[in-house]
Amino acid sequence: MEMLLADAWVERDTVIEVTDPDDGRVIDTVPQATTDDMERALAAASRGAAAARRLPTHRRMAVLYEAAARLEAEQETFARLIAREGVKTIREARKEASRAADTLRLSAEEARRIHGETLAFDQRPGSEGRFGYYVPEPVGIVAAITPFNDPLNLVAHKVGPAIAAGNAVVLKPDSKTPLSALKLGRLLMDCGLPPEILQVVTGRGSVVGDALVRDGRVRVVSFTGGKETGEAIVRSGGLKRYSMELGSNAPTIVMADADLEVAMPSIVSGAFWAAGQNCLHVQRLVVQHGVYAEVRDRLVAGAEALRRGPKLDEGTDMGPLIDVPNAERVAAMVEEARTAGGHLLTGGGHEGTRFEPTVLEAVPPSSRLARDEVYGPVTILEKVRDLDEAVAVANAVDYGLQAAVFTRDLGTAHRAVSALHYGGVMVNDSTDYRIDAMPFGGVKGSGLGREGVRFAVHEMTELKLASFQLG
Ligand code: NAP
Repeated sequence: MEMLLADAWVERDTVIEVTDPDDGRVIDTVPQATTDDMERALAAASRGAAAARRLPTHRRMAVLYEAAARLEAEQETFARLIAREGVKTIREARKEASRAADTLRLSAEEARRIHGETLAFDQRPGSEGRFGYYVPEPVGIVAAITPFNDPLNLVAHKVGPAIAAGNAVVLKPDSKTPLSALKLGRLLMDCGLPPEILQVVTGRGSVVGDALVRDGRVRVVSFTGGKETGEAIVRSGGLKRYSMELGSNAPTIVMADADLEVAMPSIVSGAFWAAGQNCLHVQRLVVQHGVYAEVRDRLVAGAEALRRGPKLDEGTDMGPLIDVPNAERVAAMVEEARTAGGHLLTGGGHEGTRFEPTVLEAVPPSSRLARDEVYGPVTILEKVRDLDEAVAVANAVDYGLQAAVFTRDLGTAHRAVSALHYGGVMVNDSTDYRIDAMPFGGVKGSGLGREGVRFAVHEMTELKLASFQLG
């Protein structure tokens, strides 16, 4: 596919091969952009920012509504592309395509709700006779950098709000999964997005991504990806605003009074969705001792019942890891936990990119499986006495995206919500619950700022104050 640069779809002699993680076959190529290309993109985005600012709200809404409708109409084509270039099964990919349409529709609706307030200047003696207000204005250029695991909806979560807020956006999608982003770019152009408001530049993060975040014309960097990359971006980007959606090792707590008929399907799905390559992946299952054995046995049974196979087969429940080095990285984390005394209950093996759904217990808190993000289909069980211990275990990490608690007791639920140091706490859903309208983001090493369309629009605007001295 070609990339979108300065209102033209362009090719380059040097390309990046996009492969299917199932079998390594090349499915397409995209240009490997250079820093000169990024300079052209930023120059075009400067013109695009002026055009975006002038674009009336009803035009922004019309483009986004139309894009949502067309994406919905083409859901199956988008889903097949997501499934082919990425790690999702076709059924998981359909859900992502449908959610991306939602995200664009929410962006269209949010465009009309960008408004300010008046201010009572006469609250200070001597400041009478004034009238004033403040309004959110577009920031100008938003840099959007996205990861491989949700190659369409996470792009929609940046491009939709940026357009709604009246900005230009330079998108640098993940090099492993750029095709869904490029297809969304084409869709937006076909829906009447004026020239140069959107650039989609394909290339290496360490080269063109770095050039993008360093550039002084960029006012907001909206990044979703790993913690180390996020920290590197903040260090090199300097004085600008950052929205950082980073990783986690999400804890789901199961109290002894939980309804396991509700809890277990949600936990099994959250543990193995997208083969665990998901920032909301149920990585740590923290279980009160009275139901520990039952939860453990049902999780292991759920893991073993999952059908693995080609992503495009309707019957496949779990797809591959993104590449072999990642499968080897996950295997090394499992091995390290076993050597440290962890007990493997099921799985642990891999063949190429296909990793077995894996469950361990008795993993020492010092091992990486308990501390870091695994980003693979591995869940560890931790047994606790009571809620206080569960909360202590859940909070004892440098991440804080979403946590969850299953309980029938309202008091327990409220205490958990209040004590868990996380950006979101789900009660009677696993950590993997999300709709696109909710504020989404983390504390500690999980990031800065919030997505979820309304909140992303907020991050992508800045307030201007007007004061009128009326005499
Ligand atoms: P990654 O390696 O950090 O890559 C993410 C993006 O950053 C890619 O587009 C990459 O480009 C680019 N990049 C790499 N180095 C860069 C640099 N120096 N400057 C600018 N851009 C650079 O992340 P990943 O492995 O694809 O994704 C996994 C992580 O994303 C996990 O930690 C996961 O939890 C997190 N995630 C978080 C959320 C959330 O909403 N909180 C959602 C999904 C995923 P290349 O592809 O060209 O290297």
